Amino acid sequence: MQKKKAIILGSSMAGLLAARVCANHFEEVLILEKDKIQNHKAHRKGVPQDQQLHILLSRGFQAIIRLFPGIQEDLEAQGAIAGDIGQLLQWYSEGDFRPQCNTGEQTIMMSRPLLEMTVRKILLQQPNVQLQDQTRVIALLGSEESITGVETKDGYVNADLVIDATGVGSRLLSQLSAMGIELPPVEEVKVNVKYTSFLFPREDNFKSLININSKPPFNSKHGTIQPIEEGKMIAMVQGRTNDKAPTSIETFKQYTAALEHPLIYEKIKDLEPLSEGASYHIPFVRWIHFEQLKQYPAGILPLGDAVCRLNPVYGQGMSAAAMQAEILDELLQKTALDQLWKPYFKQVAKAVKTPWELTVAEDFKFPETEGVPPKIPGLVIRYFSKFNRVMNKDPYLFKAFAKVLNMVSEPTVLLHPKMIWKVLWAK
Ligand SMILES: Cc1cc2nc3c(=O)[nH]c(=O)nc-3n(C[C@H](O)[C@H](O)[C@H](O)COP(=O)(O)OP(=O)(O)OC[C@H]3O[C@@H](n4cnc5c(N)ncnc54)[C@H](O)[C@@H]3O)c2cc1C
Repeated sequence: MQKKKAIILGSSMAGLLAARVCANHFEEVLILEKDKIQNHKAHRKGVPQDQQLHILLSRGFQAIIRLFPGIQEDLEAQGAIAGDIGQLLQWYSEGDFRPQCNTGEQTIMMSRPLLEMTVRKILLQQPNVQLQDQTRVIALLGSEESITGVETKDGYVNADLVIDATGVGSRLLSQLSAMGIELPPVEEVKVNVKYTSFLFPREDNFKSLININSKPPFNSKHGTIQPIEEGKMIAMVQGRTNDKAPTSIETFKQYTAALEHPLIYEKIKDLEPLSEGASYHIPFVRWIHFEQLKQYPAGILPLGDAVCRLNPVYGQGMSAAAMQAEILDELLQKTALDQLWKPYFKQVAKAVKTPWELTVAEDFKFPETEGVPPKIPGLVIRYFSKFNRVMNKDPYLFKAFAKVLNMVSEPTVLLHPKMIWKVLWAK
């Protein structure tokens, strides 16, 4: 099979990253997007979560810098704020603030629409990439052996590879089922988390990412605030069943006052918001285990939330999509298109496993969560529970943990003998 044309379904973060790597391997890359895409920074209906606060973890930031050289300077020129995540973060958890120290891991703070617009602008400078907006993909073309293109309202488009980056609403499974293809197991956990974000004006010198953790199992109220471009800051609260995030500004402020620490409340209590409250509900998180399939058609791969929708509590979604795009890039260099799916799904599952387990373990600290909890031995749970408290007083432990959270180290690094010793002996 030749690598003449790739079609990417969806032009949100996963779609843009996938298009960028496909541009390295295909003569032509066409992105099909159902929304109208503006040239300026704008909220859009197809990405309803773009009004919520988005953190870009170090792993995702590194990948984006590699794929789009010069993007950091471009974003900073538009008002984004970059720095060491350990220095920027003021993180209250377990009754205290975590150490504020250099971790060697960089982040950049801006609104989600600014990031997406800037990535898209640089991507579309590639001569072999085109974006066709206001084009809803209706169906896949092909058979159980191989997908050969897609149907849109305007007709058929053929391709050697189709990437489904249509997010959690992806219709890939129903399409495969209609073709008589065996479906992969789907792991679903009901989390029922509600989010609300408001924009506020900020002081020029406010450059922190403040995160106030919930206190499971009884208080699920969680809050975050970060500076973004244009002299604004975005504050977001989230909560579960009995702690639903409020929508009016009065109740939003009261909610921030009821967080485990009042720092966010103190920042916003006297401010008029610059926006309406934007709300978002995540009823469930989901991981589709494509890696367990024995048979699968050539020519179609899902990427991003279409494979795994993570609870955004640790801000990992865009970084997980970036890791998947890097996996695709590497495999396209050495693998024939009809052989791609097996190693792709295997490596994607490996990349998604840690963020999934980290976030789902957090979800199951709340009794109302429904699903199958990850199987973690009691001793390991007790170790990490103590680690979590001890690192508040120990920058060495915190730095290692920050690398895991930023998806640059595997959690096994936290089992280094020196760390075990420190955690076990800590009072
Ligand atoms: C409340 C909330 C907060 C979050 N916070 C963070 C965070 O702090 N950090 C982080 O890294 N991640 C965060 N995420 C996750 C992040 O938003 C996603 O992981 C990321 O956007 C990648 O998603 P995606 O591109 O796979 O899908 P989506 O962003 O859902 O995009 C899907 C795209 O496909 C298009 N589309 C859909 N159907 C069709 C069709 N039939 N034809 C054509 N186009 C179609 C849509 O219009 C859209 O453009 C958060 C998510 C939520 C819900």
